[in-house]
Amino acid sequence: MPAGVYLHIPFCKSRCSYCDFATDVWRSGDAVERYVSALCAEVLSHESGVESKSLHAPDSGLQTSDSIYFGGGTPSLLTPPQVEKILNSLSSVFSVANDAEITMEMNPATVTPETLRAYRELGINRASFGVQTFNDRDLKLLARGHDADDARNTFKMLRDAGFDNISLDLIAGLPGQTLEDWSRNLEEAIAMQPEHISLYLLEIHEGTPLANQIKSERRPLPDEDLAAEMYEVMLERLAVAGYKQYEISNFSRPGFASRHNTKYWRLEPVYGFGVSAHSFDGRERYANERDTAKYIQMIGNEKDAEVFRETPDVASEYIFLGLRLTEGVSLSGFRDMFGKDILSLYADDIGRIINAGLVEVSGDRMRLTKKGMLYSNEVFEVFV
Ligand code: SF4
Repeated sequence: MPAGVYLHIPFCKSRCSYCDFATDVWRSGDAVERYVSALCAEVLSHESGVESKSLHAPDSGLQTSDSIYFGGGTPSLLTPPQVEKILNSLSSVFSVANDAEITMEMNPATVTPETLRAYRELGINRASFGVQTFNDRDLKLLARGHDADDARNTFKMLRDAGFDNISLDLIAGLPGQTLEDWSRNLEEAIAMQPEHISLYLLEIHEGTPLANQIKSERRPLPDEDLAAEMYEVMLERLAVAGYKQYEISNFSRPGFASRHNTKYWRLEPVYGFGVSAHSFDGRERYANERDTAKYIQMIGNEKDAEVFRETPDVASEYIFLGLRLTEGVSLSGFRDMFGKDILSLYADDIGRIINAGLVEVSGDRMRLTKKGMLYSNEVFEVFV
C-alpha cells in the first residue's frame, strides 16, 4: 500500500482573521532556510525500508509514496530551490512513484510565472488554490491579503505554467454573506473550469480576530440555516456543471479526485513532516510540536519533534472517515478487516439514524444521505 506524505510549511504573508492553524508570518532569508533544513533533517531521519504497519497488505523495501502534499501555511512562498531540497530529501527515504500526485497549496499573489514554471519542472503537478471568495468585501473581512483580481490573475498564471490539475477552495457561510453572493462565487468558480472544487463552511475558532469581532457584535454571527441552503445550492449547481461529489466537501471532474485526501478517509498511511504535522502509520497516530521555533530546536537536538501519540480505535475510524466519502463504507470489507458486523455492532443507533434519514444502507454499502451530509456530526457521534 503506497503511503502519502504531508509536508507542513507554516509561513504566510499575513494572518487571516479566521485562522487557527500553526502559521508564522513569513520572513525571507534565514528563518525560512532554517525551517527547511529542519524539515529535511526530519524527513531524512524517517525510518526508511521498514515494513509498512498498515492494515492493508504490507510492503517491504523502501516504502513507496504515490502522493506528496505541501500544505500550510502558504507553501507557495518557498523558493524553487527550497522545494527541490525537500523533494530530494524525500527521494532518499521513499520510493516516489513515477505517477505520484504532488500537490502544493498556493495562495493568490504569492507566485510569479517563473516560480510556477520552476515548480512544474520540479514535478509539482497539482495546485490546491485558496481563493475562498471572489467578493472583495468578504476578502477584506477574512484579512486574506489579496483581492479577487489577484485570484483571477494567479489562476491564469497557473494554467499558463502548465498546471492541468487545479483544485479551487471556497468558503461558505461568511458573516453577512447572502445566498446571491454565494451563487455568484460558485458561478465564477465554475466558469474558471478547475478540475476540482473544495468547499469549506466557515468555522469560528475561539481567540481569532474574527471570533472577537463576532463576540463584540461588530460582525453578525454566520447563519447556520443559510449555510445549509448554500450547501444545497452548491450540490445542485456543481452536479449540473459536471462535477462529481466524492466526499462531503469535495467535487471533481472524472479522474481528478484528490489521491492524497482520499488516503485520510480510507485510513491509509500518511506520514507528516514539519511543525504540527500529523501522521498515521496504519496503527498509530502521532503529531509534532506546534511551535516553529521549538520544532526546529527539537529536530536539531534529537531529530524528532513528536509530542503526541495514540493508538486509535481503527474500526470506529474506518466507519466515520469512510462515511465522509460518497462511496460510503463496505459492510463486507469491514467484516473482513475487523471480524465484526457493523449493523449488529451499532444495531440501535443505526436504526435511529436510518429512520432520521441521515444514513442509508443499500446492498453492501452504508452511506450518508444528502441530509446526513449536512448533519454529519450527528452521525459520526454514533461511531466515535
Ligand atoms: S493563508 Fe491559510 S494558513 Fe495562512 S493565515 Fe490564511 S488561513 Fe491561515
